[in-house]
Amino acid sequence: MKVLKFGGSSLKDGPSMKKVGAIIAADDEEKVVVVSAIQGVTDSLIEFMSEVRQEEDVQRFIRELRDRHVQILADVAGSMYVKQQAVNLLSEKLVRLERTLYGITYLEELTPRTKDLVQSFGERMSVIVLSAMLQDMGVNAVPVEADELGIITDGQFGSATVDMEATRRNVAPRIADMLARNEVPVVTGFFGRTPEGVITLFGRNGTDYSASVIANAADARSLEIWKDVDGFMSADPKMVPEAVPISALTYEEAAELSYFGAKVLHPRTVEPAKERGTVVKVRNVFKPEYEGTAIGDIEAVKDGMTIKSISSMPNMAMVKAYGPGLGSRSGILSEISVLLSDAGINVYAAATSQTCISMLIEERDLRFAEKVLSKARSSVVDRIETMRGLALLCLVGEGLGQKTGIAGKVFSIVAANGTNVSLISAGASTTALTFTVRREDLELTARTIHRQLFRPDS
Ligand code: ASP
Ligand code: MG
Repeated sequence: MKVLKFGGSSLKDGPSMKKVGAIIAADDEEKVVVVSAIQGVTDSLIEFMSEVRQEEDVQRFIRELRDRHVQILADVAGSMYVKQQAVNLLSEKLVRLERTLYGITYLEELTPRTKDLVQSFGERMSVIVLSAMLQDMGVNAVPVEADELGIITDGQFGSATVDMEATRRNVAPRIADMLARNEVPVVTGFFGRTPEGVITLFGRNGTDYSASVIANAADARSLEIWKDVDGFMSADPKMVPEAVPISALTYEEAAELSYFGAKVLHPRTVEPAKERGTVVKVRNVFKPEYEGTAIGDIEAVKDGMTIKSISSMPNMAMVKAYGPGLGSRSGILSEISVLLSDAGINVYAAATSQTCISMLIEERDLRFAEKVLSKARSSVVDRIETMRGLALLCLVGEGLGQKTGIAGKVFSIVAANGTNVSLISAGASTTALTFTVRREDLELTARTIHRQLFRPDS
């Protein structure tokens, strides 16, 4: 059994959806399909909630959503019967969404809980359209909603984590039953529910993670994540023109790249797959003959000197908290990290000295981080400094973090460009070496490192 995931960009219109249908129909193995919302739908739901709306705005918005889905449905399904059934199902979803949006309008109140619920409707509708097309093609597809299937989360709105054990207990028997009836479940990505039934999202692009969770829960042999790119590359080709596609990565390598800026997979996708040794393949819908990138327990060169890929985050900032003896007071770093993470701010790297704790965060979080840290101020922190305009580079390759030699080599290469490096966190994992440079030095640094340290497919 395998799990196939398709993203919103592969479902943007009739022709794209037909490509997806051809890939599913050509595969005669037992399978579960997991999908995102149709391209742009999640964005439009978020956008709609970002302003105060009137009743007529809700009606207009619901009409637009209906038209968009019915249009694609008309392009992909021929049978009147299949189409009518799908339209009925879509209407049920739209009525529920409409009432929820009226609720927001009348109450003039929008909680994180409601925000997550509203966004789940993109996927609740896309599975209906895709299933209808597949039924029309003779595939016994059945739309399934993740909350009904029993994907259980920890309840963290906007960035939930799955309770794998509880999820497995719910999902494994249901999927097995459906496969035994020769059905192809088409499951909504992006969200799950708490044990009490509250909808929670996995964060933007969370369908990758959903697919990996379902692959784990249903004991899939493999997980294919179908995108509109060739898989992972040795660097961002917009920045490094010589970048080439990568045919294989270890779980750790893929996890580090995803966490540090490679936008191919949701950052946590590999976790559930790795737990059960499921091979993940990242493939291109528009080039189905191409193998893409395989992620698994592969034999990797662990010479600690070979870089497989470079990822980067161009919009970073540093926040530095100063206070006497800050670095030697145990627990302060974790106290400060907790303050930030409770505020939903990710710390990508941290370094401490006797008088200062430096933390690397995304620039868009900087203002908020300053505000949050000023809470800690009276007790231990007496001054906060910030630095904008930074970029984070992440070099990935098995064994990299264990060798001191590589850091020296990288920094002499970077220094030869006249670039300053700060905040190294080579210790964070054995697979990744991360450091920051000024944003204007990012491209040149990435290109130079790629030219000197990258070895094709090692
Ligand atoms: N539809 C959601 C988003 O746009 C989830 C996903 O695409 O995976 O982020
Ligand atoms: Mg998406």
